[in-house]
Parts: sequence; C-alpha cells; structure tokens
Amino acid sequence: MENGMMKALVFQGPKQFAVKMVPIPVISEEEILVRVRFGGVCGTDNRIYQGTKVIAAPRITGHEFSGVIEQVGAKVSGYQAGERVSVYPMIHCGKCHCCLEGKTNICVSRTTIGYEIDGGFAQYVRIPKEAIACGNVVRIPNGVSDEIAAISEPIAAAYHGIQQACLRPGDVFVIIGAGPIGLFHTQLARGSDLKKLIVVEPIAEKRQMALRMGADLVLDPANEDVKAVIAAQTDGRGADAVIVDVGVPAVLEQSLDYVKKGGRLVIFAGMPVGTKISLDPNIIHYKELVVTGSSSSSAKNQEEVFRLLDSGKVRTEGMISGCFPLEEWKTAFEMKANYVGVKTILDPWA
Ligand SMILES: [Zn+2]
Ligand SMILES: [Zn+2]
Repeated sequence: MENGMMKALVFQGPKQFAVKMVPIPVISEEEILVRVRFGGVCGTDNRIYQGTKVIAAPRITGHEFSGVIEQVGAKVSGYQAGERVSVYPMIHCGKCHCCLEGKTNICVSRTTIGYEIDGGFAQYVRIPKEAIACGNVVRIPNGVSDEIAAISEPIAAAYHGIQQACLRPGDVFVIIGAGPIGLFHTQLARGSDLKKLIVVEPIAEKRQMALRMGADLVLDPANEDVKAVIAAQTDGRGADAVIVDVGVPAVLEQSLDYVKKGGRLVIFAGMPVGTKISLDPNIIHYKELVVTGSSSSSAKNQEEVFRLLDSGKVRTEGMISGCFPLEEWKTAFEMKANYVGVKTILDPWA
C-alpha cells in the first residue's frame, strides 16, 4: 500500500478505459477491503466499453473477482484478514417482491459491484456493508484456485440456468452453443444423470471442447439437420429440455422445434436490445412448452458451485484461456469480443 495508491483499470466513458493510479479505498467500520488476486473479463465489460451497457463514469469495472481479505471493519463479524474470498457482485434489496419470493437474482432494485460500485479490475476493492449483509463475501475452498474462483460468478450463473431447466434423471438435454456458458452448462449438467447430453455448436474446436467437458454428442448446425438428429435420439419425441446459450434470435426460433411436447426451453443468453422473434404460438399451445429465462445468480449459487468445484465434480481444465496484466486489458477484452478461448482473467499485480 505504497503512498495509499493502487493501480486500477478505470472506465472513463464509452471507448475510454485507462490504467491509472488511484487512491486505495478507505473502508468504514462496517466494510471489508479485499486485495484482488484476479478479475474475470465478462461480455458485459465489453458492452460497457462499447457503450451498449450504460454505467456512470468514472468507474472501476470488474464484477468477477477473487482475492484475499486485507482489512475488516471493526463492526464486521465473521470474517478475518487473510481469508481467501470471492465476492458475489450483485447486491439485492431484500424488500421487493422478487427478493421476498426468494428470487434475489431478479431483484428489481439491485446494485452491482463493477457497475454502480467500484469493482475488481484494481489492486484493492471496497466491499460495502450491504454486500456483506447479503452474504456476498464467499470463502474459497482450499481445492479451488484463485484463478478459478475469479470466474465462479459466471459458473454460478450457469448453475442457475441448469436449475431453471429442471432436469430429471434419464432426460435428453440439448445445449445450444459451446461458448464459456455452454461449456459450463455441459460440465454442470453431467451431475443430472442424463440419458444424453447434446451440444450444438458451429465451431469445430468448441465442439471438441464440449466433448472433453462431457457431452455425449456434438452437432454442427451448419452441416447437420439438428432437429432430425435430436428426433432420432429421442424416438421422435424431442429433447426434454433445451437451453439457449447463444444471443442470436434465429437460433432461438429454431430451438423451439427441438423441444418435446411438455418440455422446457430456457433462454439463457441475452439478445440484442429490441430483438423480436417470430414464432408460431401453436407450437407452445399444442406442445404445452414451458419457456423460461435464466438471469444472473445468487451468492448461494456461488457457494454451491464452490462445493462442486472443490469436490472435483466440475472440472475446469481449459476454462481459462489467458491471464493478462491490467495494462493488457484490451487484448483480454478483444479475446472475449472475438470469441477466442473460454475465459480471460486480469492480474492487477502483474
Ligand atoms: Zn459477468
Ligand atoms: Zn429486491
């Protein structure tokens, strides 16, 4: 903590990020200061850069991060300096109808570390008392590395998506897209005792990765009749559940056709703002399809994911495609934007 200054990647407005020396946050008696180990780069960070996700500037972004508790405010109990933690970024209000129904992930008046509050693309981050009260400071088990802990938030979001699919033993489950989330879904779905796990992905390298992650069958939508193959794999019924991890409207429209009567479709991927799809409502009507979404996750999901990671039930080899110093943020962001690799992380101390 030389001179009370730290290195941070500061968002100064659309298309303007800069690595700067800024004051180390000063915490109150009710807050925690975390020394950041790694920050995960998310698609949302790119959208902030592009200006399509609007946040106030200046702001230190980074909502996926791991670190070590540096300082604990005098009035905070239950945490100690030196503990390895990952901080779940979204702070729910606890009062809205969603929170009262236990769906804190879709809280109507939430704030997020990395969007409205300075985040983890810095050497230190201040954890507000509301985040501590929400249980967002989650200890990292010994069996989970700091690198993987930094990407536990998107894994938790993926975990919630699997919950939304309501999988049962013996199901045929189809995952559309093998980007980071599709690959996490592949790993997480393996625990559901499925009859068959099918991943649809146009890029050959990612199909191979999906196979390594536990897919039983991978399909190339550019060269295969996906609907026909799924029908053949299910005695003509269709898949029990389908999750869409690709933000392409036409892909979503097609995916409805893969679901069996009485099956479930989960829209995990966000689509471009203002997207409309055309669909025949009779498909939903006669097939009694359940179409739902999956948005964000919770600190509880993150704890559950840590248990799975610690137990070795979810493997993480190949999940991190690069680790860069803050100064090379642009390379990490561009890898994300260009779908190169799986996840990239930043090391503010490199
Ligand atoms: Zn994210
Ligand atoms: Zn709420």
